[in-house]
Amino acid sequence: MQTNFSAAQLADPHVAESEKILRKCVHCGFCTATCPTYVTLGNELDSPRGRIYLIKDMLENGRPADTEIVTHIDRCLSCLACMTTCPSGVNYMHLVDHARAHIEQTYRRPLLDRLTRAMLAFVLPYPGRFRAALKLAQLGRPLIGLLEKLPTLKPLAAMLKLAPSSTPPASPIASPGVHAGQGTKRGRVAILTGCAQSVLDPAINEAAVSLLTRLGVEVVVPEGEGCCGALVHHMGREDQALASARQNVDAWTRAIDQGGLDTIIITASGCGTTIKDYGFMLRLDPAYAEKAARVSAVAKDITEYLAALDLPEPVRKPGTIVAYHSACSMQHGQKITRQPKELLAKAGFLVREPREGHLCCGSAGTYNILQPDISAKLRNRKVKNIEATGAEIVATGNIGCITQIASAAKLPVVHTIKLLDWAYGGPKPDGVSENSLGGAE
Ligand code: SF4
Ligand code: SF4
Repeated sequence: MQTNFSAAQLADPHVAESEKILRKCVHCGFCTATCPTYVTLGNELDSPRGRIYLIKDMLENGRPADTEIVTHIDRCLSCLACMTTCPSGVNYMHLVDHARAHIEQTYRRPLLDRLTRAMLAFVLPYPGRFRAALKLAQLGRPLIGLLEKLPTLKPLAAMLKLAPSSTPPASPIASPGVHAGQGTKRGRVAILTGCAQSVLDPAINEAAVSLLTRLGVEVVVPEGEGCCGALVHHMGREDQALASARQNVDAWTRAIDQGGLDTIIITASGCGTTIKDYGFMLRLDPAYAEKAARVSAVAKDITEYLAALDLPEPVRKPGTIVAYHSACSMQHGQKITRQPKELLAKAGFLVREPREGHLCCGSAGTYNILQPDISAKLRNRKVKNIEATGAEIVATGNIGCITQIASAAKLPVVHTIKLLDWAYGGPKPDGVSENSLGGAE
């Protein structure tokens, strides 16, 4: 694509990066076919190609964002299916991240939208605040019907609907410390405790630590870890996202310097995509560029790490049919497609893949709160495809997808690591019946 940026504009490294990306796009439109919002809404401006044109126009003319571009960029899930499809290697992720930051800096949103976003950015990345907010949400549940009738308050209704009816207690696993590996030492890793996942389902990291230590891997929970920054990054709040990234880079760099780390393990693929991008996000910060690149280079999803470990034979033989839902951040963001399915199959599960596996479930960070109508359509489509597999359980590797799919599916939705931990001798995952697991000892 031809671009017309001035030399002065290109002196801004963010614009220069976006210009490079724009020039790679050849307008072929292949990406439209796999874009969930284009498939759902049928509007070219809600396709990757349409958004790329809108972003190009906004940046080239150096103008503030307007309502039209905000509408279409807000509808983008950042699912990155377009990047998987694009034959020209267009880095849509970095382009839309830049557009979102530009929108945040130049566009004044309506009051309620501003308040909702500010509240999400204030609450979600902090486990203590999030836990308190979930308790409060119980009191607000009777208002869901009323809030749903008022278009501007629909995000509040969506938030209340997604809030679980009870919250598990905080896990000791989330506290800084070292969990020694059993038997012959096979590695030393850090694990991201994260934010929302540690509140909604702390048993995910408990399963990860339990399995890793049984396999002989020492697991460190470094002091000072926090939210990876993805939630605010996708809202265009760059300063907040970069502050989270720096905090984690510092925590992991200390851990690397103190005792060495083979890997930084991540059990939420939405976080993994962002942490693997820290090197890019902090490239312009001389104090952090190198450290951030080092962190990104050793970050791995738990399934990537386990797949390289040469696991023993499982303790149980489940034979359970599992529908594997590949989170967008797993398959498109990190290009991890094979390992989770192979691990489940090796552990004795019969893995089925739902139709339209490339399409987002509509979770996408805070998307299911901020865009509840499109999100619900995508969720229902996903659940229908999952249920058509005839599976007894859904496995996936991202807490956002778990919450989203579980809000409409009849079958249990669990993190892949919980099924693996169970097959290798760990406890039965909560919410899954013995019958559906059926594992023979
Ligand atoms: S990130 Fe997803 S929703 Fe956004 S343009 Fe690409 S395919 Fe469409
Ligand atoms: S597939 Fe790639 S090159 Fe083709 S229009 Fe989409 S982003 Fe541009």
